[in-house]
Amino acid sequence: MKENYVIGIDIGGTNFRIAAVRLEHAALTKGELGAYRVYRSHFRKVPVGTVLRTARVLEDLAQYLEQYCEMLGREGKRAAAVVIGFPATLDRSRKMVLQAPNIPFMEQLPVADVLERALGIPVLLEKDVSLSLLYDKVKYGIGDCPMLCGIYFGTGIGNAIFINGKVWQGKNGTAGELGHIPVDTDRSKCGCGNEGCLENLAGGKYLVRLCREAYPQTEPGALFSGYRDEPELRRFVDRMAVAVATEINLLDPDVVIVGGGVPNMKDFPQEYLRERIIFHTRKPYPAAGLRLIFAEDEKDKAVIGAALFAGDCMQDALAH
Ligand SMILES: [Zn+2]
Repeated sequence: MKENYVIGIDIGGTNFRIAAVRLEHAALTKGELGAYRVYRSHFRKVPVGTVLRTARVLEDLAQYLEQYCEMLGREGKRAAAVVIGFPATLDRSRKMVLQAPNIPFMEQLPVADVLERALGIPVLLEKDVSLSLLYDKVKYGIGDCPMLCGIYFGTGIGNAIFINGKVWQGKNGTAGELGHIPVDTDRSKCGCGNEGCLENLAGGKYLVRLCREAYPQTEPGALFSGYRDEPELRRFVDRMAVAVATEINLLDPDVVIVGGGVPNMKDFPQEYLRERIIFHTRKPYPAAGLRLIFAEDEKDKAVIGAALFAGDCMQDALAH
């Protein structure tokens, strides 16, 4: 009998990541990922343009996945489902991408339906950060809890909220857009079309701009090594804290995970960020006893999170 694999895909603005992932409960011994042993094969990281080559992006993607599934089949592996993580807002039915400044060519297309027809297996779409949060939830041994928040500082600010272990979608599917909280003093244009969004001031794109304007001799990746105590960077970290504390004050979560490329930059002041988060969080609660975890940045966590997501959504179909 063929072994079931989930095809996990992470489509970013630059790279397309894909892997066939099989998770097995590592009953008594400690697995690679919490209680799981992870079998991952055919991991690929390629520029998005090498997969989506023409204006007919869904046909390109279907063709790529058909070949990927055939390749698995030849090795005795069965593709049981496809899960795709997008850096985008998705509709509530999780069938299509609503708005995606980094991959605008995917907007408003019937992604799930077209791929399901082409491949004959379930195709699930989710925000990339939801898949990352699922990965971190297992990695850091967080059991099911009423409210879990993940805030990921990359180019922008990614945000996922789980209520009782499930993604909180909101009325239209677009809940959890912490990066687009408006900031009173700012009028800069955001990729979402609005102006003055928090992620323009507290996301990685601000660091790139700051580096270009104030520290042109320095690589953005080395900013905190050289200048972590400069007022501009202290203010930047404080604005990150404002983002996190806003969510904590609003939702009083059981656990908050802070991750992404920015807090994992070399010499980033994580303890100062923690201090500022507590400073902005309301006392005595939710500040007292706040459970805040800094997650390591692993580039393919959404691809493995995809397999966890499929496991949650379609347990029976994946059982064997
Ligand atoms: Zn915005």
